[in-house]
Amino acid sequence: MAATQGHGNPNWTRDETILALNLYLSVGGQVPGPDDPKVIALSERLRALPVHREAVKRDTFRNPAGVAFKLQNIRQVATGSGLGNVSAMDRSTWEEFGGSPLLVQRMANAIADQVASGEAVEAEITAVADDEEFAEGRVLTALHRRRERVPKLRGLLITKRRAEGRLTCECCGAGPWSGHPEMALAGFEAHHVTPLAEYKPGAVTRLRDLALLCATCHRLIHRAINVERRWVFPAQLSEMLGMPS
Ligand SMILES: [Zn+2]
Ligand SMILES: [Zn+2]
Repeated sequence: MAATQGHGNPNWTRDETILALNLYLSVGGQVPGPDDPKVIALSERLRALPVHREAVKRDTFRNPAGVAFKLQNIRQVATGSGLGNVSAMDRSTWEEFGGSPLLVQRMANAIADQVASGEAVEAEITAVADDEEFAEGRVLTALHRRRERVPKLRGLLITKRRAEGRLTCECCGAGPWSGHPEMALAGFEAHHVTPLAEYKPGAVTRLRDLALLCATCHRLIHRAINVERRWVFPAQLSEMLGMPS
C-alpha cells in the first residue's frame, strides 16, 4: 500500500484530510480496506475535488489503496500507536477536529456540496493564498469569499449602515474617506461572519450575516482566523489587536 505514496502524488490538502477524517470518524476507528465501498466512494469524491487538476490524470492519485493508507495514518495519529509516516497535516487536522465528529461531518458535507453543485470554481479555490486558508480548507474558504463578494449585498449593507447612523468599520471604527466623494466608500468591504461549518447547502447570504469592515480589518480578520485556527468575530479582532472601538 505504501507504494501509492511514492508516485509523486501531491500532499493531501486540508480539504482532503477533512474528508478522510470524516470517514475515519464515521467507521468508529475500524479502518476499512481498499475494497470497501466507502473507501471507493471517498476515492471518487477526492478525485472530483477541483484542487489537483494535473495529478488527477494519474490512476494512482487518491486511488482506493491510497485512501486506505491515509485512513491508517489518521488511525496512527488518533491512537498514538505506530507513528511512522504521518504528516503534519494529519496531526494538525486531528488536533483541531478529531474530537468533533459532528463538526467534521458538517464540513465534509459542505465541501462535498460545493463540489457537487459545480459552484466551487477552480480559479476561486486556487486564488486562496496559503496565509488566508482557514482551518476548514480551501474549498470552504473560497465559498466564504464568494458569499461576501456579491456586489449588490455590499451596497445594501452600506445603505443600511448609513441609515442606522453607523457607517463605520465594525472592528476599528474607521469611517468613510471624506476628501473625495467618489472614493468615500471605496475602503469598505462586506465580511461574512458565519463560521464555515454552519453554511447550509443552497443557503442564501442575508444582510445580517455580513459585517461592514474596512479593507485592512477584513484582511486582518481573515489572517486572524488563519493564525488562530478558529473562527474570529469582529469584536474579537478588535480586542485581540487592541483597536479603539
Ligand atoms: Zn477597520
Ligand atoms: Zn471575509
